[in-house]
Amino acid sequence: MSLPDFKLLRPRDLADAVGQLNQHAGNIRIIAGGTDLLPSMRQKLFDSQYLLDIRHIAELKGVRSQSDGAVAIGALTPLTAIEHSDLLRRQYPVLCEAAMTVASPVLRNMGTIGGNICLDTRCLWYNQSLAWRKSCGFCIKKDGDLCHVAPSSTKCWAVFSGDTPPALLCLDAEIEIASAAGVARMRLSDFYTGDGIDYRKLQPTEMVTRVILPASSVGYRGGYRKLRIRGSIDYPLAGVAVVMKHSNGHVEGVRIGLTAVNPAPVLVRGVTEILEGKSLTEELAEAAGDLAARTAKPLTTSSLTPEYRREMIRVFTKRALLTLSSN
Ligand SMILES: Cc1cc2nc3c(=O)[nH]c(=O)nc-3n(C[C@H](O)[C@H](O)[C@H](O)COP(=O)(O)OP(=O)(O)OC[C@H]3O[C@@H](n4cnc5c(N)ncnc54)[C@H](O)[C@@H]3O)c2cc1C
Ligand code: SF4
Repeated sequence: MSLPDFKLLRPRDLADAVGQLNQHAGNIRIIAGGTDLLPSMRQKLFDSQYLLDIRHIAELKGVRSQSDGAVAIGALTPLTAIEHSDLLRRQYPVLCEAAMTVASPVLRNMGTIGGNICLDTRCLWYNQSLAWRKSCGFCIKKDGDLCHVAPSSTKCWAVFSGDTPPALLCLDAEIEIASAAGVARMRLSDFYTGDGIDYRKLQPTEMVTRVILPASSVGYRGGYRKLRIRGSIDYPLAGVAVVMKHSNGHVEGVRIGLTAVNPAPVLVRGVTEILEGKSLTEELAEAAGDLAARTAKPLTTSSLTPEYRREMIRVFTKRALLTLSSN
């Protein structure tokens, strides 16, 4: 499968990059590591005239402590650097755990945290070659007018399938978004829309520049569990991130984030009410698992059944909670 023709733009710095986005708005795509974008372009899912290659903008790379105790991660930081960062492992272990499960080592060397956050949603009927989609019939997400997964729906249910966003949601992360008008901050939980097509709140003239992890999320133990077919490389088909803090044997704080079972990564609501102030038992972990499974709304967008993926959310949540409480 060949790539469509495009012009590659290489901005010198951030100001140049947002200027180019402004100039070519609607006909330009950002390329970071390219590990998701280039295969999608080969499948003719995107055909922008311009690609904005941001890989040479040094100010977008690196993990840095801030004066207020927060940590800022440049959007271009490779996932490998996140996986191996001592600072992140010490302060936000759940993020390192999630990053180390993305794809394979080679893809983590190229793939960036910004690309992982901005990842397109996925579906069996969409992530296919042009010939495949033509023969089976196009769908609402690209070139068609019906949904093969939910034929009575006018909405696309393609799933968000990045591994780090559920961990970032558990850490109450914010992102910085730059445009020609300046830089704005947004909580990551407000970034995703829950729609399979317009899945993120990012204008064509904007780009994600940094991820900010607050000081208030330091000190949580964390774990990430992921269901996939090939253990060495695949996207998640269900994923659970859990962070937990203890005090005197009781749960002082807990958050659970899910991925690959909804059109957006989501936090499980109501888990604090079930667990906080209590000593974690198998029954309580089971109850939290049930709640997580009810939050997951998988459909037939991937090669494993929705029932199995939802069940694994329940099992992963329970196991992750019990593991964190026993360490
Ligand atoms: C075989 C294979 C297996 C994979 N497995 C996994 C997996 O297990 N888990 C997983 O999470 N991912 C997986 N991926 C997808 C991908 O490798 C990662 O998500 C990676 O983090 C994407 O980052 P990137 O820099 O390569 O993004 P790119 O491919 O460069 O970009 C992805 C999208 O984000 C946009 N974008 C990138 N950076 C920015 C920015 N700073 N601001 C605004 N928009 C931006 C691009 O325009 C594009 O739409 C897999 C990919 C392949 C090919
Ligand atoms: S959920 Fe429906 S509209 Fe969305 S990509 Fe899949 S088949 Fe297409």
